[in-house]
Amino acid sequence: MNCIHPTPDEPGFATSEMLYIDPVACVDCGACVNACPVGAIAPDNRLDVRQLPFVEINASYYAPPVAGVKPPPTSKLAPVLPAAAVHVGRQPLTVAIVGSGPAAMYAADELLVQPGVRVNVFEKLPTPYGLVRAGVAPDHPNTKRVTQLFDRVARDRRFRFFLNVEIGKHLRHAELLAHHHAVLYAVGAPNDRRLDIDGMGLPGTGTATALVAWINGHPDFAHLPVDLGHERVVIIGNGNVALDVARVLTADPDDLARTDIADHALRALRSSAVREVVIAARRGPAYSAFTLPELVGLTGACDVVLDAGDHRRVLDDRATVSDPLTRSKLDVLATLGSPGEGGPASAPGIGRRRIRLAYRLTPRRVLGQRRAGGVEFAVTGTDELRRIDAGLVLTSIGYRGRPIRDLPFDESAAVVPNDGGRVVDPDTGQPVSGAYVAGWIKRGPTGFIGTNKSCSLQTVQALVADFNAGKLTDPVAKPAALAKLVRARQPEVVDSLGWRAIDAAEVARGADDGRPRVKFTATADMLAAAASAQRASPPARRLLARLRDLAEPMVS
Ligand code: NAP
Repeated sequence: MNCIHPTPDEPGFATSEMLYIDPVACVDCGACVNACPVGAIAPDNRLDVRQLPFVEINASYYAPPVAGVKPPPTSKLAPVLPAAAVHVGRQPLTVAIVGSGPAAMYAADELLVQPGVRVNVFEKLPTPYGLVRAGVAPDHPNTKRVTQLFDRVARDRRFRFFLNVEIGKHLRHAELLAHHHAVLYAVGAPNDRRLDIDGMGLPGTGTATALVAWINGHPDFAHLPVDLGHERVVIIGNGNVALDVARVLTADPDDLARTDIADHALRALRSSAVREVVIAARRGPAYSAFTLPELVGLTGACDVVLDAGDHRRVLDDRATVSDPLTRSKLDVLATLGSPGEGGPASAPGIGRRRIRLAYRLTPRRVLGQRRAGGVEFAVTGTDELRRIDAGLVLTSIGYRGRPIRDLPFDESAAVVPNDGGRVVDPDTGQPVSGAYVAGWIKRGPTGFIGTNKSCSLQTVQALVADFNAGKLTDPVAKPAALAKLVRARQPEVVDSLGWRAIDAAEVARGADDGRPRVKFTATADMLAAAASAQRASPPARRLLARLRDLAEPMVS
């Protein structure tokens, strides 16, 4: 993120008495907190009194005080977020957040910075954290470490999980509003964008996003039919999801066996016949959708090749492109090897598994009668046809938002219409009172996990400003009534203690094999693990929670 300074190329590197974190660039991923060997990094809103001067010292590094000029904010949040003013006779701000992925958890974190605010998080799965659990590739464990920040947020006494509860099914929007000042939807973009060509839908076709969910043990995808009995896989689209899938499909299963990959996926990959994964993009190398760090990571970990024609395209693009980031991508692509003899249709043969990046291929149809046998492409902008044989054809052309019951929806952009996070009625152009959005359902499926930090902050600022301006109605129901209502509608609701029991059980299942965890992939198993902790009496529950807190550093 380039948020820690001075860097090796800046004055003061190696002589500075301390390092400084840029509050604008930092996304609170927690990576530096985990990596610091001396435990010297702490979030600004968790400092004790003696540490508070560091907030000012850190801020002054980025904008040294100038006489007569207002000093810069001493913390990233406190001055920009208006206090959730508790007016006489009003109840403290209480917010329902729907979804528990990064946008939801960052929003909860921002809200809980304000004293007195209460947050209830509703999630339809029995496990939280959305795409961090079900979308991040298992060989990217560092990315998953952001869950340590989320765990810390969830341990706040003013935070409550209602997991295994689906809003729109178990509870409606109006019911949530009766118990909260506001409802913030951070439900992501759960659908795939579909490619409308002949043959999609045949056995042997599917989407990369579904495969990622299968690899990650999402319970709804545990029984996805994935046939890896053929030598070649074609992935259409070359975003970061395509790279994730190609990397996992070509990885050494023994390496994956040290990750939290779902057991069913590991078994399938151990007996996989796949030797080559072709990632086919419709445009040229300069328009590659993957990001530079992911490309560098891919070329460092796998055998990645380019056909001779695509090598020429890289060189042609490099001669004309001026944007430094694109140039760097092209520089990396220019270093790749060639697949050797044979064109795209030739069999990859036995040997090390490899990934082939292919360009200017517009998909025309999936070949095959009863099951996929390959893809026919047109060379983009020409009538020339190219055929790539494959036993598995995956589209990886992006995610798509899904309508939320009781809220407006913009079908073309596949987002909830909003103004900086305030849901807006498209007919009147007016805000829908008490309804907010953050993350992919607000801005579309773009960016990485940390992008949600500023996205959620913007929404929370709008929400708190509306509360302070008296625009949000106090909940009519008593706080204790919510848990009763939820339990009546969904007796199998999982709370924080239940989730921590699931978490501990998964971690314990992986311990013997040196794995970070072995995931439950069936909802019933998750509920069984949660039930023992949830059945305990209140004092026993408090003791269990305390014991788990104490055990946390040893577990992680
Ligand atoms: P994406 O980055 O939007 O890439 C979509 C790809 O599909 C592009 O190559 C696009 O080509 C292609 N495409 C779209 N419509 C097509 C069509 N009709 N025919 C052929 N190709 C088509 O989507 P994604 O890979 O699903 O990623 C979603 C977001 O998650 C991105 O912001 C990504 O960076 C992020 N993500 C990040 C990580 C990470 O940081 N490690 C991992 C996974 C995902 P055109 O460019 O020609 O439209």
